[in-house]
Amino acid sequence: MKDQNQLVTARDVTVFFSLKKNGFFAKPYKVTAVNGVSFDIKRGETLGLVGESGCGKTTLGRAMIRLGHGVTGGHIEFNGRDISSMGKREFRALRKDIQMIFQDPFGSLNPRLTIGQMLAEVLKVHRLARGESARKRILELLDIVGLQKEYFNRYPHEFSGGQRQRIGIARALAVSPSFIICDEPVSALDVSIQSQIINLLKDLQKEFGLTYFFIAHDLSVVEYISDRVAVMYLGKIVEIADSRSLYEAPRHPYTEALLSAIPIPVPGGKKHRILLKGDQPGPLNIPSGCGFHPRCPKAMPECSIREPVLKSPQGEPDRLVSCLLYP
Ligand code: SF4
Repeated sequence: MKDQNQLVTARDVTVFFSLKKNGFFAKPYKVTAVNGVSFDIKRGETLGLVGESGCGKTTLGRAMIRLGHGVTGGHIEFNGRDISSMGKREFRALRKDIQMIFQDPFGSLNPRLTIGQMLAEVLKVHRLARGESARKRILELLDIVGLQKEYFNRYPHEFSGGQRQRIGIARALAVSPSFIICDEPVSALDVSIQSQIINLLKDLQKEFGLTYFFIAHDLSVVEYISDRVAVMYLGKIVEIADSRSLYEAPRHPYTEALLSAIPIPVPGGKKHRILLKGDQPGPLNIPSGCGFHPRCPKAMPECSIREPVLKSPQGEPDRLVSCLLYP
C-alpha cells in the first residue's frame, strides 16, 4: 500500500546525454550525469541535496521538472503519479504544483517586464486571475515575500540580489504549488541576505505547507533548512539521513570530509579537516568499484573492485549509506 505521506518517490533515476566528439566521423558518446538515484520526500519536509559542483545535483533537480535533459532511466512519482513517463499535456496540467526557484534570480526574470507585468503573465498563463483580481493577488504576493507594493511597477534591474530572489519566490508561489525545487537559491547572495531568504523560505513552508527539495553546496545552509539531507558524489547518492544524525555522526567518508571543512562558528574553534586527494573525476572517467575510492582516506583494496549499494547500516534504519565499511 502506498504511503499517503509520501509526496515524491524517485527510483533508479538516471540522466544521461550524448555529446559529439570533434571530427566528422566521430561517434557521439554518452555522459551519465545522474546514475541510479533513489530517494523519497515526505509532505511538508525539506530534503537537502549537497555535493561538490559537477556531482549532478542541479541536473537531477532540473530533470524532475523536465528541464534540460529530463529523466532518461528509472522513474519519479509525484503524488502517486509517474511524472517521468506521462504525456506532455498531462504534465503541463500538473506542472503548476511543482515549481522551481533558481540560483540566478536576475537571469530568470524578463528584464523588459515590470514585476507586476511578469507576475500578471504567470497568473494569466495558468488561468488563475486577470485584471483587478490579478492585481490584488500580485500585491498580496509582494506582501507575502516581504516586498513593498510600490515595487509593482519596477523593473528587475532596479532591485538588489535579495529582492530579486524574493521576486523569484513570489513567482513560484503565484500558482500555489505544493512542491518547490530550490536550486542553490542563496549561493549568489551576501551572507546576511542569505539568512533572510532562508528564514523567509522556512516561514512560507509553515504557512503554506510547502515541501522543498533544497539543492546547495553550502553545508551550513543545508543543515539550517533541511529535515533530511542527501549527499551526492559523481552522480550517485552516497548517504541520506536526518539532518541532525548526518551532521553529528556522518558515516560515509565523503560526508565526513565535506563536514570537516565547515568552520566552527566560535572564536578559536578548531577541528580536524580531512583533505581529499585530487578533484572529483568527470562523468567520463568514473572509477571502477566505489566511485570515491581514488580519493577516499579509508579505501580498502576491494573498494576499486566492488561497487557498494545504498543501504542501512546495522542499527540505523533511518539512514542509508553506500560504502563497503558498512556491510
Ligand atoms: Fe571509501 Fe571504500 Fe567506502 Fe568507497 S567503499 S567510501 S572507497 S571505504
